[in-house]
Amino acid sequence: MTLNKLKLGARPEGRTALNARWVVAHRDGGHRLLENGEVVIERDRILYVGSRFDGDVARRIDLGNVLISPGLIDLDALSDLDTTTLGVDCGPAWAKGRVWPQSYVERGPYEMYSQDELAFQKKFSFAQLLCNGITSALPIASLFYREWGETVAEFEAAAQAAGDLGLRVWLGPAYRAGGMVCTAPGVLEARFDEARGLAGLDTAIGFVNSQAGRFDGLVQGMLAPDRVETCTEALLTRTMAAAHDLDIPVRLHMAQGQMEYDTVQALHGTSAPQWLAGFGALNERLIAPHATLATDDDLKLYAEHGVSVAHCPLVFARSGAMLTSFGKLLRLGINIGMGTDTAPPDMVLNMAIGVMMARMAGDSQTETAPEHLFDAATLGGAAALNRPDLGRLEAGAKADVAVFDMSDALMAPQVDPIRTLILGASGRVTKAVFVDGRLSMLDGQVSGMEMAEARIRAQRQFDGLVSKYPERTWGHPKVEEIFPPTYPFLNEE
Ligand SMILES: [Zn+2]
Repeated sequence: MTLNKLKLGARPEGRTALNARWVVAHRDGGHRLLENGEVVIERDRILYVGSRFDGDVARRIDLGNVLISPGLIDLDALSDLDTTTLGVDCGPAWAKGRVWPQSYVERGPYEMYSQDELAFQKKFSFAQLLCNGITSALPIASLFYREWGETVAEFEAAAQAAGDLGLRVWLGPAYRAGGMVCTAPGVLEARFDEARGLAGLDTAIGFVNSQAGRFDGLVQGMLAPDRVETCTEALLTRTMAAAHDLDIPVRLHMAQGQMEYDTVQALHGTSAPQWLAGFGALNERLIAPHATLATDDDLKLYAEHGVSVAHCPLVFARSGAMLTSFGKLLRLGINIGMGTDTAPPDMVLNMAIGVMMARMAGDSQTETAPEHLFDAATLGGAAALNRPDLGRLEAGAKADVAVFDMSDALMAPQVDPIRTLILGASGRVTKAVFVDGRLSMLDGQVSGMEMAEARIRAQRQFDGLVSKYPERTWGHPKVEEIFPPTYPFLNEE
């Protein structure tokens, strides 16, 4: 029998045994490599991981030369049509539509996508995550093209999309108490509206109360204050209190950028992690992308208070920055999870770059071995979410599984399977994904969305957004001036 006989988007009836050349099995507190192994799924759970299951099964599927892996956990999961790629080779950010100019603020910021477009881009990006072997996601999207924060309507649609596609998600509309405004070329000012931020928090709490637990628990809640420099002490204090009451994680970007560092220094006289520690807002619920500018003192506070770092190597490597360092965080005992953050939302590529950047940062070969990055993308994410039933293939764990093709012609020759995957540096070898026991992705196809058609719609939508960039770019230059081409166009007469 083959996977094609299973219904896409459905949970197979009875027990399904998957056997393969390689299985990442979890035993005695860590991942183990199991050669010629078998994983048995029953309903939403893993029933068995080992050499051969003795009991009855409804079907046995021989997957051949693949790696059966725990599904990957994405703590900063790209959930829009990525705009950071526009600015990678064109800077500075204030001149490229990534800081609102005064004129745009005066005109009145507005939603640059319709409600339909916001819903579509979430669903499309959720499908992309599944295609990359990601089974758990905490979505992240830009607020630059928004009127202010994210909306409940859009997140209700996101919850529905996650349920329809079969992706495990932690959702909460992002809110903020302020924003940066460009008042002159290169001059950035923080402007605050705390009441608006607190209203955003209340809205997010309402969303979590109404949506968490939907689709057999596939949808969970989180609180997502956007960027530390746009938050106030009252907003963060209330966020942490609400997260405690709701028993959900909080994700907050901090210690990640120079503009953030300068702004927080000017406002509070210290770094963001030290500012939060000062009013008791660092704790084990906090997931903090990206720590690329964290000082030793900041990291000590993370370790002391059990903060998890969401490590997203690709988006930083592109601009010449990195976490310094992966090995140092490990030595300090800080829990590291991983995120994709940018396009392509490819966790395998992020693991590969994570290994390379850590070695460039001077970490030892053993500290930066591929298995540590693989641990971060599985067990680290599960620890950040306090979900010991995720990120591992072990009897009793959730049946969240990624199947990676080890026979890909472009990824030859094969060595150790984890090394092969990470050296190959591409999630495109993801063959199938199960989430909560459902077959959510097979050979690049998901249930309820035709990917080739969706790709065309996504491009049309993205092009529409790019055409609006002059409105929120300092001096309102033409699109071609904001994002010049790599080579001059050849215009033949
Ligand atoms: Zn991020």
